[in-house]
Amino acid sequence: MPLTLATEVVTLKTKHPFVIARGGDDETRVVWVRLTDADGVEGWGEADPSRYYGETADTVLTVLQRLAPHLPRDPFDLEAAEARFAQTVPKNGAARAALSAALHDLVGKRLSQPVWKLWGLDPVRAPRSSFTIGLDTPEKMRQKVVEASPYPILKIKLGTEHDEQILRVIRDATDKPLRVDANAGWTRDRALRMFPVLKEYGVEFVEQPLPPEDLEGIAALHRRGILPVVVDESCIVAADIPRLAGAVDGINIKLAKCGSLREALRMIATARAHGMLVMVGCMIESSLGITAAAHFTPLVDAADLDGAALTANDPFVGATIDGGQIRLPTGPGLGVRRRTERGG
Ligand SMILES: [Mg+2]
Repeated sequence: MPLTLATEVVTLKTKHPFVIARGGDDETRVVWVRLTDADGVEGWGEADPSRYYGETADTVLTVLQRLAPHLPRDPFDLEAAEARFAQTVPKNGAARAALSAALHDLVGKRLSQPVWKLWGLDPVRAPRSSFTIGLDTPEKMRQKVVEASPYPILKIKLGTEHDEQILRVIRDATDKPLRVDANAGWTRDRALRMFPVLKEYGVEFVEQPLPPEDLEGIAALHRRGILPVVVDESCIVAADIPRLAGAVDGINIKLAKCGSLREALRMIATARAHGMLVMVGCMIESSLGITAAAHFTPLVDAADLDGAALTANDPFVGATIDGGQIRLPTGPGLGVRRRTERGG
């Protein structure tokens, strides 16, 4: 009997409106995907659409209907299933990632093993996650730094007219390690001026300083060697990595971009073959979406998996970043369950 697919739109509310260089919002609609096999075993996944890549909860639902006929008869047939999904809808990474996560969850549950164990990983090697401070007024940003006190590493979103002021406000409020994401918001000149300033402020690395297509400009920043350059918007799938070799220090993997857990593993292997740093990031997601990415974090150098921690109504319990340390669940599959009324 084939797998049956059920979908449900979940509206996540963020604790604060989440604003980056391109704009922001305080509500995000994600799609909870459930696959059920003939024995009633369920695999869960979440699609966390990125507006930047043209996805919304509604496009996800449409794409899932298109992909449903391509679900495997045998959930263990993961490689072929994911290849069919990517062939049917080459973009729409968030929708495909939800099915990929659900299939991996189902396989893990059938084998009674967590996904990280099936991959031969040691959960102790998972790195600490940064916590993101979104763009806001200086006063609100100071307040967010205080709220982020349990998290040992902060990520700041820049790419505005008043980046220096933001840096000063954050640095005055904390001496924690900082990472910066410009979300493609700078010009070459602006980036050249900002890098030494960021270095002054003790920033560890800079994510996507320039528009994704300006690889030449990004490579020039990398060559200056002031701070490591990690690309996010310039790197979607493993096939993007060879042309980035020598031009950047690292890549940021997101399931919403690459569309599958197995593609994330291929990206890690490809980046390593080119001597690059590997980071994993996320969208605003519930703990279901975050946990799918958390399972491969023992293989990465840096993580920004704060998507669920930024929400006020996370319906799931899975991987956590309490105190900044990523902790993987030990239950079978993704190890995610619904949160109970009492919050536990
Ligand atoms: Mg980014």
